[in-house]
Amino acid sequence: MTAYDKDNIFAKILRGEFPCYKVYETDRTLSFLDIMPRTIGHALVIPKVAARNILDIKPDDFAEVARVTHKVANAAKKAFDAHGITLEQFSEPAAGQTVFHLHIHVLPRFTGVDLLPPASRKEDLKVLEDHATRLIAALQD
Ligand code: 5GP
Repeated sequence: MTAYDKDNIFAKILRGEFPCYKVYETDRTLSFLDIMPRTIGHALVIPKVAARNILDIKPDDFAEVARVTHKVANAAKKAFDAHGITLEQFSEPAAGQTVFHLHIHVLPRFTGVDLLPPASRKEDLKVLEDHATRLIAALQD
């Protein structure tokens, strides 16, 4: 498998070299909003450890990402009054992966509303700020 690229965009976010709308952080994970959301409140949960995807992450590190994803998913449902939540995780280009640091997508869903296609458009920063505020509040409950 291709080696981990330490200059991928999420590695830069983890090092503080690139901004993000952070919603939750633990000693081993970071959660932030996707800048090209496919639905309101589209969030990403990533490990701090260098892992390209599901094929190289250690099981215990992935378990921590899953634990935090569970928390973010429940908070997102509440924050956006969603009817459901879709989780997605793509590993390798053949599966649709475009950023090569493991991440889980947390996608609030609404009955009868399709997801936008990936990378359709960059969201307005004010809108992202508002969505981050709502998700952060729900994560604190
Ligand atoms: P993948 O297709 O690899 O599962 O998803 C990568 C995701 O990263 C996409 O949903 C894309 O919108 C998001 N993304 C790409 N660049 C950035 C960025 O600079 N910041 C944030 N927050 N998300 C990004």
